Amino acid sequence: MKTILSGIQSSGKLHLGNYFGALRQHIQMQEKGDAFYFIANYHSMTSIDDGEEIYQNTIDIALDYLALGLDPDKCTFFAQSDVPQVTELAWMLSTFCPVSMMEKAVAYKDKVAQGVTPNIGLFTYPILQAADILIYNSDVVPVGQDQKQNIEICRDLAGRFNHNYGDEFLKLPEEYIVKSVAVVPGIDGRKMSKSYGNTIGIFDEGKTLRKKVMSIETDSTPLDEPKDPERCNVFALIKLFAGESKQQQIADKYRAGGYGYGHAKNELLDMIEVYFAEARAKRKELAQDIDTVRDILSEGGKKARARAESVMEPIREVAGVFKSY
Ligand code: ATP
Ligand code: MG
Repeated sequence: MKTILSGIQSSGKLHLGNYFGALRQHIQMQEKGDAFYFIANYHSMTSIDDGEEIYQNTIDIALDYLALGLDPDKCTFFAQSDVPQVTELAWMLSTFCPVSMMEKAVAYKDKVAQGVTPNIGLFTYPILQAADILIYNSDVVPVGQDQKQNIEICRDLAGRFNHNYGDEFLKLPEEYIVKSVAVVPGIDGRKMSKSYGNTIGIFDEGKTLRKKVMSIETDSTPLDEPKDPERCNVFALIKLFAGESKQQQIADKYRAGGYGYGHAKNELLDMIEVYFAEARAKRKELAQDIDTVRDILSEGGKKARARAESVMEPIREVAGVFKSY
């Protein structure tokens, strides 16, 4: 059975980009292999230095996943920090990583260009991510398009490591990207991203949700004039929720004129409400019992640690560094 691995940062509320780019695939794929899904709390330290906030985000993301249909009996669901072997392997991989490889990383360059002041953790983020993947002997990594280069970096590092020690100690993974939802745009048209503050949350409700949907940026084509749906952020989001015929129907209205962006936004708002109604109710129920959520993560952590240790043991040996002498 193939090992499937994916993670999500606990850097803030999950959004539609996370759902369509990642979570939905994770939930579907729990049936299709030996799935490991983790909450990347170490990674979130690159942007958050408040412990209480990271803890709360971790619990929130666990609630989100469980409410959306993740079943802890079908997959291994845990927090990254419950597997210390990950940072151990990350260190080893970093010694095989040329500085220039990190300097070329697009995700890093993007964040710096957006005004984020980088720390070394952010700079070496892809190395920790590579360790996350390699430590479980993962075969498949379902991610959004923005992560493609990071998976290439992961393969590159594993290849260098294996080549140096003369055997296949680390398994080279493949990414799995759903093309139609490769990049979900945010309300300002850039990639929807927690760190850009341009998100629509999966569990946003009522006024908050309405306000966000209504503030999606559009051009200034007057109401009566025809509009090009393919150049509209609202339509890009509608496509994620609507079936083919509904999409076609709305696209026709755009092209006919007399249909304004406000109309499209209202349709989108309704679609979001309906699509997540069940998950919202479930989340409220789960939030009444956080101890159970913590137990689920702890159990997952145990399983993940066992797998990680079995991969790490021969690696320590070949690298000549041991836990005890
Ligand atoms: P940050 O801004 O902190 O990097 P993020 O919003 O980009 O957060 P991540 O935790 O980096 O979210 O990504 C989690 C998963 O969601 C990844 O698999 C990523 O590819 C996917 N993802 C994030 N944003 C989008 C998006 N706009 N469209 C499609 N997939 C996305
Ligand atoms: Mg990201």
